[in-house]
Amino acid sequence: MQKKTECDVLIIGGGPAGGVTAVTAKMNYPEKEILVIREFEKQLVPCAIPYIFGETLGCSDKNVASCGAAADMGISAILGKIEDIDFDKKIAYSKDNAIHFDKLVFATGSTPFVHESLEHSLKLDGVFTVPKNKALIDKAKAYMEGKKHIVVVGTGFIGIEMAMEFAESGNNVTVVGGSKHILKGPFDSEIAVQAEKIMLDAGVTFIGGDRVAAIVDKNGDNIVNGVELKSGRIVDAEVVVLATGYKPNTELALSVGVSSGHYGGIWVDEYMRTANQDVFAVGDCSARRGFITKVPSKVMLASTSAAEGRVAGSSLYGIKYMKSFSGTIAIFSTMVGKTAFSSAGITEDEANSAGADIVVGSFGGMNRHPATIPGAQKQFVKLVATRHGGQIIGGQIIGGNETGEMINIIGLMIESKMTVYQAMSMQVATQPMLTAAPTNYPIVMAAMLAIRQIEA
Ligand SMILES: Cc1cc2nc3c(=O)[nH]c(=O)nc-3n(C[C@H](O)[C@H](O)[C@H](O)COP(=O)(O)OP(=O)(O)OC[C@H]3O[C@@H](n4cnc5c(N)ncnc54)[C@H](O)[C@@H]3O)c2cc1C
Repeated sequence: MQKKTECDVLIIGGGPAGGVTAVTAKMNYPEKEILVIREFEKQLVPCAIPYIFGETLGCSDKNVASCGAAADMGISAILGKIEDIDFDKKIAYSKDNAIHFDKLVFATGSTPFVHESLEHSLKLDGVFTVPKNKALIDKAKAYMEGKKHIVVVGTGFIGIEMAMEFAESGNNVTVVGGSKHILKGPFDSEIAVQAEKIMLDAGVTFIGGDRVAAIVDKNGDNIVNGVELKSGRIVDAEVVVLATGYKPNTELALSVGVSSGHYGGIWVDEYMRTANQDVFAVGDCSARRGFITKVPSKVMLASTSAAEGRVAGSSLYGIKYMKSFSGTIAIFSTMVGKTAFSSAGITEDEANSAGADIVVGSFGGMNRHPATIPGAQKQFVKLVATRHGGQIIGGQIIGGNETGEMINIIGLMIESKMTVYQAMSMQVATQPMLTAAPTNYPIVMAAMLAIRQIEA
């Protein structure tokens, strides 16, 4: 017998997108009853999952998201999985609850993508994906205990973060991927090779430009022994981690007739509304497009999901702010060893393949001034701008920890359609122990060098 539950806004999924939508909705509509239904009691902070596998965190219990603030705000949460929805009656059903809602938000996220040719190998002992599920992550970690030979398939930031954690814990790690360099996509080659060098120096073997043809179980005992590559090469392994991307989790939405957009995500407009104006979708389950190119995008980021949650949470009962979500700027950072790599907007390669007429300004300096300050590290900023008008459309940074926040300056520049001419005279706070020199602030210098290209 299902319990009857009432709410104004039902949010399905308690990941970053669902959580932010709930908080934003409560702030905008304090009188409304907001209910989040989520599958798991303990929700992992997804972005820190790689650090469970090495010494940085060491266990999943140190990586559990806190829901305290939402509860303090009066947001209700229940455990369960929505299995069916009747949009005419406005009722969503889980095994235990029949929840009557006024507005509904899909925040059902994403699940690991595995190429269909490798799917059957997931049943082998020692083959894992990287799901956002504590029980499965604990199972994988327990299996890896005492195993030394690990193959990571996938050269995106999740694969590389996992590989570095394994390597730093003394394992013998090989990364395999179809692209020539790691982190291809968010970084141009000259930046990706620097990340690659750090990874190789940490003892990781990299096989690029080759793909996994099969996962090997040579004894036929359901235990993995390695991977066979398209080139015919075989790499031995006791553990294979498939970090080959994620797909929108839209099984429920599609089963109840919600329309999908590109790459299988739920179709939404700029206010995150589906075709039914009482039904929204946010986060990885929604269909995205690029902020600059406007073409469908596979980018899946917690930061993008949170931004979408803020837009949906303030638009549930009509358009409150003219702040819509006009595409992902694909902004993110990763650490490879002690060096941070950050990217926002589009790369030079991507701009060129999109046929954009661009200029590039790149500047390398130090992140402290003078460079003799203890802990000073090299810093490199690359800006991509339109040749006509100088609008900033992309940026990449290599440097120390400050890189993680500096990329947010570039992100804001892209979102606010700033030009390199405005960036050239940008006023920045500088301090010897904290930043690069005011005379050589790298974002400003990169902007000046881009202007020189425009005017050449
Ligand atoms: C290893 C890893 C590292 C990452 N690192 C970064 C990073 O550094 N920076 C960054 O920006 N992004 C990062 N990401 C991406 C980021 O985690 C995702 O973009 C983000 O989790 C998406 O949030 P979401 O709320 O849309 O979906 P999810 O986090 O997938 O959450 C969806 C939730 O909905 C629940 N759910 C699904 N169906 C139902 C249902 N029917 N009923 C009830 N509940 C349901 C699921 O159980 C899940 O908890 C990383 C991802 C991974 C896996």
